[in-house]
Amino acid sequence: MDEMQRFVLLETLRLAVPEHMDDLRGFTPEQRCEIAKACAAIVGSHGDALQFGGKHCAEAFNALARGLAAAALTAWGGVTFDGLHWCAIPGCADANADHPQPHPERAPRRSVPKPRTVVDLHLPEPDQAA
Ligand SMILES: [Zn+2]
Repeated sequence: MDEMQRFVLLETLRLAVPEHMDDLRGFTPEQRCEIAKACAAIVGSHGDALQFGGKHCAEAFNALARGLAAAALTAWGGVTFDGLHWCAIPGCADANADHPQPHPERAPRRSVPKPRTVVDLHLPEPDQAA
């Protein structure tokens, strides 16, 4: 991918990803995960069209933009692609910013396991084992 192709890809993503994010705000995190997964499969099978063109180029681009948008709203800390960052915080452009957990009600609880019972087991002396 030459510099002009990279520039066009990044500038179109800069426009398209927020559009998809607006569209996906009403979806549940589970639905967004499924969308991101489906989009990743499309990018995985037609990603070469983004670089070399072809009949799947638009499909691959839309899947990349929609998948980034779905992940940006779901993943803690959002997503960063070639220096561009999107996350659940409107206007955030810093991938290293302090990102709150986007779905605290769904975060796994950190429970401390009960201590295990410790039992001393006396092993036989080597000369008694035989
Ligand atoms: Zn952010």
